[in-house]
Amino acid sequence: MSKKKLSQCYLCGIIGTGLTIEHLPPKCLSPKSADSEFATISACQNCNNKYSHEESKFRDFVATAGSGRGLIAADEAYGAMKRNFARNPIGRAGNPHKDLIRLIKNIKRRDFYTPSGKVYLGSSNVVTPPDDLDLEGVLLKIARGLHFLYTGAVIPDDYIKHAVLIEKIEYPELYEETNTRGRAGDFFHFRGGWAKEDIKSGLWYIVFYKKVGAMAWFLNPTAVKKTSKHKPKID
Ligand SMILES: [Zn+2]
Repeated sequence: MSKKKLSQCYLCGIIGTGLTIEHLPPKCLSPKSADSEFATISACQNCNNKYSHEESKFRDFVATAGSGRGLIAADEAYGAMKRNFARNPIGRAGNPHKDLIRLIKNIKRRDFYTPSGKVYLGSSNVVTPPDDLDLEGVLLKIARGLHFLYTGAVIPDDYIKHAVLIEKIEYPELYEETNTRGRAGDFFHFRGGWAKEDIKSGLWYIVFYKKVGAMAWFLNPTAVKKTSKHKPKID
């Protein structure tokens, strides 16, 4: 990833001065990765700051999920997270740090077997994202960054926008039409594309540490209405 697209905020579309350069995906999600692995886009101060706490919770989630599997970047991020919690074990009002509590609550040790159930494959951590994390917000921000980087399009406010984690990293039929792809080291892989008839409608698959997969999409609301099966009959 080395493309650059500057001079407009990729989230709100504002053009002009006062924009700051932002890494894509956000550098704070994998601070140990080399700068050269990230693309750069620009964002206004307001949009840039909005997600910083959510992004740090998301970073801890993907570092925990991605660690222990031979990926140096993931293990380093997980180590940094643990050191950080060790330095600041106490949160507000003398209680244990709430981000740490949340994370521990969401780690479950699970045994894995072959599909037939006969062969034990070992056990590993299964991590679910913390309940109070704005997961969709963080994922959409990244997907909107990719969309802007490749199309120059800012997704309008009235567009339908969604993002979800996907259980298995495998791609449906539609994926064959989404042929833009790239990566930032071992931390981040993506594939995606946009509709020929509407550059602002798009679909992106993103994978963190080859482990946590997600899908994000943007749709023109009028296009959705037109193709609805429940269209009322007009005589
Ligand atoms: Zn903005």
